[in-house]
Amino acid sequence: MSEAYPTYPCHECQAGVMRLQFVTYFTWLDQELITVPNFPAWVCDVCGRREYDQRALASLQVMLNPEAGRPVQSSKRLRRSPPQKTKEIRPSSHE
Ligand SMILES: [Zn+2]
Repeated sequence: MSEAYPTYPCHECQAGVMRLQFVTYFTWLDQELITVPNFPAWVCDVCGRREYDQRALASLQVMLNPEAGRPVQSSKRLRRSPPQKTKEIRPSSHE
């Protein structure tokens, strides 16, 4: 069941090879800084171009937005979360 991740040529420099690495992914959710350790990303070994794994990104979106896909009833949010708050999320590496 072990799946070898393929490499593919870099679109940026066209000389390097994009390889799967695990990095810390940062994103903002409302006013909260979300950090996701061990996030899969493709990194070029020549120019350093980084592309986050699309499937991991998609599942992360679902994790961050449980309401995703549902119609938004009210966009009014009176609660303001303080900035600089950090939340750690562990994505599952399963399919
Ligand atoms: Zn490159």
